[in-house]
Amino acid sequence: MNRSINFSAGPAALPLAVLERVQDELLDYRGLGHSIMETSHRSPEFMELADRSKRNLRAIYGLNDDFEVLFLQGGATLQFAMIPMNFPDGGRPAGYVDTGVWASKAISEARCIREVDVLASGASACSDIVSWGNCEGRPYVHITANETVNGVQFPELPSMGDTPVCADISSEFLTRPLDVNSASLAYAGAQKNAGPAGVTIVIVHREVIDAMSGELPSMLSYRRHARAGSMLNTPATFSWYVAGLVFEWVLAEGGVAEMERRTEVKSRLLYHVLDQSDLYLTTLPSECRSRVNVPFWLGSETMDQKFLEAAEGRGLRNLKGHQRVGGIRASLYNAVSESDVRQLVEFMQDFERTA
Ligand SMILES: *Cc1c(COP(=O)(O)O)cnc(C)c1O
Repeated sequence: MNRSINFSAGPAALPLAVLERVQDELLDYRGLGHSIMETSHRSPEFMELADRSKRNLRAIYGLNDDFEVLFLQGGATLQFAMIPMNFPDGGRPAGYVDTGVWASKAISEARCIREVDVLASGASACSDIVSWGNCEGRPYVHITANETVNGVQFPELPSMGDTPVCADISSEFLTRPLDVNSASLAYAGAQKNAGPAGVTIVIVHREVIDAMSGELPSMLSYRRHARAGSMLNTPATFSWYVAGLVFEWVLAEGGVAEMERRTEVKSRLLYHVLDQSDLYLTTLPSECRSRVNVPFWLGSETMDQKFLEAAEGRGLRNLKGHQRVGGIRASLYNAVSESDVRQLVEFMQDFERTA
């Protein structure tokens, strides 16, 4: 077996121990005689797995009992629409902070549903909450905790008093302790850091569910999903199962505090090389740099291309930047080890020397 060093932004690398567990259990799930994806989502085996995954996620984020944990489909992208549909109308438009590509998508989807004000734009918006103005009376404020494409990350979830905060935590899910209890809703597509595509984890305060006005079609309603234990219809059982194994892995490795420690070490190694370099360019002020997705550029498309080809030659895969911004992007999710990042930075230093 020759596993590559995989810096993919998503669907992304998974911990080897989790993949091996899946392999072990694939033909016969714990004595069942068939795999978990060949069994009913209402079977005792799957119900047990579903409960365990919720319990473990609660433990990971220290969630209190006011929160429901849902496992939905439609990706983070469907949450862009479900949030504006489910929150009651306030006297004022909902507030959105536009820190990059994903926030912009969330804004344009929300505008199909309700009135939206963009409170602040650009990378600096995440460290300057004062610039958002007074948000009292807004039905909610939406932020993108980590911009996967632009590499912008909030230092922490903002505290907005009585105004509910909704946070897209897709690409930083499970990489640091985050005070999700201070938010009203946090959501993450699994494929960045927690499993195969197909399942989206939504952590939602019961107040949001109770305050929901009117009725929505059931698949768009947090209330209906919560009442049905995320089993209104057939959930993405295999993706849910793998996400549950990843939660167990995170806890066994020391939880999100340990994930944060590793993420800090890995990102510091990479930023150190970027900051010292005359070849590699970064554009962001240090206070809003992402510790998870690190974009950089070499000054020309030709050089970017040369870099990517040489990296491939060393077994360093999936470093191409998002098509919207070009350049290079290294994603440092939990399954990417410190040793993987050391190999990347050694390669980068060699490449700069000979470029
Ligand atoms: C990938 C990503 C999305 C979109 O996720 P899908 O599951 O593909 O809908 C949304 N927000 C962020 C921050 C992302 O990284």
